[in-house]
Amino acid sequence: MGKIQSCMYVVCLLCSATLNILFVGRYVYVSGKWEVGWSRRAAEEAEAVAAVSCSGHGRAYLDGLVVDGSPVCECNTCFGGPDCSQFSASCVADVDSGDPLFLEPFWMQHAASSALLVAGWHRMSYSFHDHSLISKELEELIRKLHAIVGNANTTGRFIVFGAGSIQLLNAAVHALSPHDSSAPAKVVATIPFYPVYKSQTDFFRSVDFQFVGDTSLWKNTSDTTSNLIEFVTAPNNPDGKLNKAVLQGPSAKPIYDHAYYWPHFTPIPAPADEDLMIFTISKLTGHAGSRFGWALIKDKDVYEKMSNYMSLNVDGVSRDTQLRALKLLKVVTRGRGREIFEFGYKTMKDRWEKLNRALLMSRRFSVQESSPQYCTFSGKVKIPSPAYAWLKCEKEEDKECYRVLKKAGIMGRNGTLFSANSSYVRLSLIKTQDDYDILLHRINKLVGEENGGKSSMRRMNQPSVDFSWLITYFGHQLEYV
Ligand code: PMP
Repeated sequence: MGKIQSCMYVVCLLCSATLNILFVGRYVYVSGKWEVGWSRRAAEEAEAVAAVSCSGHGRAYLDGLVVDGSPVCECNTCFGGPDCSQFSASCVADVDSGDPLFLEPFWMQHAASSALLVAGWHRMSYSFHDHSLISKELEELIRKLHAIVGNANTTGRFIVFGAGSIQLLNAAVHALSPHDSSAPAKVVATIPFYPVYKSQTDFFRSVDFQFVGDTSLWKNTSDTTSNLIEFVTAPNNPDGKLNKAVLQGPSAKPIYDHAYYWPHFTPIPAPADEDLMIFTISKLTGHAGSRFGWALIKDKDVYEKMSNYMSLNVDGVSRDTQLRALKLLKVVTRGRGREIFEFGYKTMKDRWEKLNRALLMSRRFSVQESSPQYCTFSGKVKIPSPAYAWLKCEKEEDKECYRVLKKAGIMGRNGTLFSANSSYVRLSLIKTQDDYDILLHRINKLVGEENGGKSSMRRMNQPSVDFSWLITYFGHQLEYV
């Protein structure tokens, strides 16, 4: 009898294990019957929104507008109608913002591996289990990411998270400024520079720091009493240059902004090894809306000041954002980063080839040229494929370049906003494919008009100049962008 009972017990256990394997995550056993698990409805809701057709020119979102119970398409610029299928030929090519939507198709291809399902009870606490404000898993993954890409040395560095790198910029200025001195730290950047360095520093009106303009003005300063905090942007926004610190000496304190130091945009010649480096997922994965950045910091005192800033300012980055960043970076680091960087680089390379080809015959407009460099990540010599074209109107009569382009249906960002002169305009090449295609069409038209309405159009019909040739450069294979 005892034997029969224990046999039945084993059979029951096996049945229960099998059922668990079959239904785990999808069904739960409640009051004697199987019911749909908590995750099912959320998954169905997400799938339903993803399935809304916006003709490839828009997307519906879980938190978007709902009309008659159906999610509504949010259309790309120049597209409209309920399913974004109506193109407005007269609309303006909007290449103003640095919205990194060029990576959206990558995430659509990787929808399954990058999806998250978050229960209502997930991480409700102010802090993690170890009382910290940052996820140790995410911190480790960031170190692994830098080791894989080879773009930064994380050894002996502390890490601070920020709500986007924008928050860390001021946290860094705060940490590098003296707090016991009558002379505020002087904050500088090299023209052309990302306007937020000035606008943010001005906005805080601190007694500890003050924005004082172009770095070159302070290169030979005799003032040794105040600290000089230099923003060094590499690659630079707007012109893509791999800038280096200009100011030297004990009172010079550089903040390296490496928002674009990823293989989509630049060859990686060596790991960055500076004392204070700032990165962001915005231009790495394209998730600008998640607001996640991090700083790598050598000095313990600077780290503590930046951590203190973060805890007083927002009490650490949202735990939901940290979870999302963790999931995304797991996809990025899979296969040693090959997939995302190949996709990103190929997209940017294609955009640059077409833009260069369109401007080839122009005497009126030019864009920055960049030199090839060996990329340790890809093992090839590559020409940079920056996020922005820094376009110059070459003719005196076109010196209000922004206006010239606007008249031609192109809305870029005026060079004056980067403290450069008005003959420059920044064109964003990292927006959606639709935005890029409209820009290219308008540029081709402009250059065609310059050449009597023939040349550009004729070039478009000619067998196109192939810019993707490979040549040998200093014994390395050179991949042209
Ligand atoms: N630094 C540079 C040079 C940038 O161009 C940007 C965004 N355009 C940022 C920092 C801020 O990025 P985020 O706050 O999205 O991380």
